[in-house]
Amino acid sequence: MYFIWEDFLKIVREELGSRVVETWFKAVSMTKWDAMEKVIYLQTPNAFVCNWLEKNYRPIFQTHLGRLLNVADPKVVFLTTTQKKDDSFVVNSGELQVCVSDAKTLQVKTYRPAHIIPYGSKNEQTSAKLSERYGHINQKYVFETFVVGPSNSLAYAAACAVGQKPGDLYNPLFIYGGSGLGKTHLLHAIGNTIQAHNKKALVLYQTADRFVNEFINAIRFDKIDRFQKKYQLVDVLLIDDIQFISNKETTQEAFFHIFNSLYDARKQIVFSSDTFPQNINGIAERLRSRLSSGMIADIHQPCIEVKTAILKRKAEESGQVVSDEVAHFLASHVTSNIRELEGALIRVIAYAQLTKEHITLALVKKVFLHDECAVKESVDFKAVIKAVAKYFPYSLDELRSENRNKELAFARQITMYIMKKNTDRSLREIGAYLGDRNHTTVKHAVSKIEQHIIADVKLQRQISGIEKEFER
Ligand code: ADP
Ligand code: MG
Repeated sequence: MYFIWEDFLKIVREELGSRVVETWFKAVSMTKWDAMEKVIYLQTPNAFVCNWLEKNYRPIFQTHLGRLLNVADPKVVFLTTTQKKDDSFVVNSGELQVCVSDAKTLQVKTYRPAHIIPYGSKNEQTSAKLSERYGHINQKYVFETFVVGPSNSLAYAAACAVGQKPGDLYNPLFIYGGSGLGKTHLLHAIGNTIQAHNKKALVLYQTADRFVNEFINAIRFDKIDRFQKKYQLVDVLLIDDIQFISNKETTQEAFFHIFNSLYDARKQIVFSSDTFPQNINGIAERLRSRLSSGMIADIHQPCIEVKTAILKRKAEESGQVVSDEVAHFLASHVTSNIRELEGALIRVIAYAQLTKEHITLALVKKVFLHDECAVKESVDFKAVIKAVAKYFPYSLDELRSENRNKELAFARQITMYIMKKNTDRSLREIGAYLGDRNHTTVKHAVSKIEQHIIADVKLQRQISGIEKEFER
């Protein structure tokens, strides 16, 4: 049976590519073959994967498994069950049953036994205490509220699978995609799912920014042992925006060791990032290879149907109903990302409540007329930095530094200008963000670029190129 399944995966890999196999087929196991009735039973990790396989790949299973089992047109039944036993995850618990006598065709093997992740190893009191220290999971973000479409189905399916079988299938899982497209949501959803299955599991969500700060403080206050222990004790580590670890060599080194020790202990690690691991600048090669060693799933810009569905869901969550017409209008006018889409919806709802009107298309248009900078407002500093980094070879640290090298200083001034124009932050906030600079420095930079831009076509192009990055 095992060999048949391996052969089957080989065929599918050739036919559909290894990405499809990794995402959809690796999580499946063939639990039973009923030769009398010609039925193949396949165990899938969750309802989503099950439906997806059923809808998209049923003929593949029928044709190839049929051929390997030497029968024409077998029936394929997809099953979903996840079982929980005490405080441990029991995965792949389906025992192999083979109802067939033809030993030549089928290699009856003891199927992979239940794999148990030993969460129960810490005593309850310590776990409860630790959970308090570790609890950064936002319960708002769950799989049930995540709208799935072609742009995010890969990441969603991988995240679901990890939620069901932590440490087993895709380790590490690396989710990447543009800003506001649901990466953080998925990380928390994984954490929530694992926590729901096992209250004692130590799940730690941490942004790479905070990780860096924590590490620096640990060094400063001589608490490095405590820091390492904290991370090495976790069962599940969710690191958001890992790209922010770039150019921080010592932090990377510390993280590398934490990664290895968790990975060796088969603890689940999940990363999110705004780019593919190969495109993160300033990280050590060995860390890069760890980041890309597991499953990599991307999230793209959603299509209008998904955006509309998300809007309707978000409106419902806040107790409002928006018509298809309104949802469609908003979805087609706010092009950038889902965070901005939500922002636009919140403004519409607030306006409707303020004026005690119903949410109609006319009202939405009115809001947008009053609120020309709808898109502008929600661009944040990080998005600007990210976009600037695509045009200039400087990291955030360099932009923040005292270094007055001519090119770097110019890039810094352009960053200030773009921040002033595209965010609703004050000169003071911009100055503080870019290396504690005085607001008059920012003001000077903004007016300098404003003057330059009038006559300098190259600069105009450069700046509008950077601004376009926000809309991706
Ligand atoms: P990212 O981390 O990729 O920048 P977030 O996860 O913070 O993005 O998502 C931004 C907002 O958009 C969140 O409120 C999140 O709930 C919402 N969101 C993103 N994608 C979806 C989706 N597919 N379904 C529902 N909400 C989504
Ligand atoms: Mg995020």
